[in-house]
Amino acid sequence: MINVRTAREISIMKDACRISANALCVAGEYVKPGVSTFEIDRKVREYIEKQGAKPSFLGYGGFPASACISLNNVVIHGIPSKEQILKEGDIVSVDVGAFYNGFHGDNAYTFACGKVSEKAQDLMDATRISLEKGIEAALANNRIGDIGNAVQTYAEARGYSVVRDFVGHGVGAKLHEDPSVPNFGRAGRGARLLPGMTIAIEPMICEGSYEVEVLEDEWTTVTVDGKLAAHYENSIAITPDGPVILTVPG
Ligand code: MG
Repeated sequence: MINVRTAREISIMKDACRISANALCVAGEYVKPGVSTFEIDRKVREYIEKQGAKPSFLGYGGFPASACISLNNVVIHGIPSKEQILKEGDIVSVDVGAFYNGFHGDNAYTFACGKVSEKAQDLMDATRISLEKGIEAALANNRIGDIGNAVQTYAEARGYSVVRDFVGHGVGAKLHEDPSVPNFGRAGRGARLLPGMTIAIEPMICEGSYEVEVLEDEWTTVTVDGKLAAHYENSIAITPDGPVILTVPG
């Protein structure tokens, strides 16, 4: 069932989304050579809890941390660790959510650690813009397939591939709600977008093949070919006046 929320509910949800966005900014401040991913996760958790919110991911399906931190060939769901120390040139995808006043916010961003290669920067730029294209397509009366098609068309035109095995989702009272929001697909297909739907659009874009595998820890998801991947995400609301990004820092 796809939830449709009132303007009042969406305005309450904005607080959770703002906290999530600020938490992502906190993470970004600590992305530098020599910092462990454990340390970044700790700062994120401290920030979220200080706001009276809860980290959405902590304990979700048994996930052991507040943020997923995924380096280089890790696409998503990287587990922060004291042993994992950031190096100059790493690309660092951080995915974080916060639960506050009955709603979740969910967002992700791929940060550059120091100076990164031109190819890494190009992948990050393309992925970020593919998210913007997806959001632009999230118009009332469009369909879910219009979003995925916009992301895929842009990413593939830049020479990249779109992960198939993981997708975006509805977000609200639960972290993951209906509908699934693939980052690929055919325009004009899938559920119709209605004002009041709140969804997380989150392209995961690969330098090489889109094939991914989950490691033995049952979380860490890597590209099979070992090439780079990037990941950006916003929680948005469909409104009569167009898509509104909810995960805005402030
Ligand atoms: Mg998400």
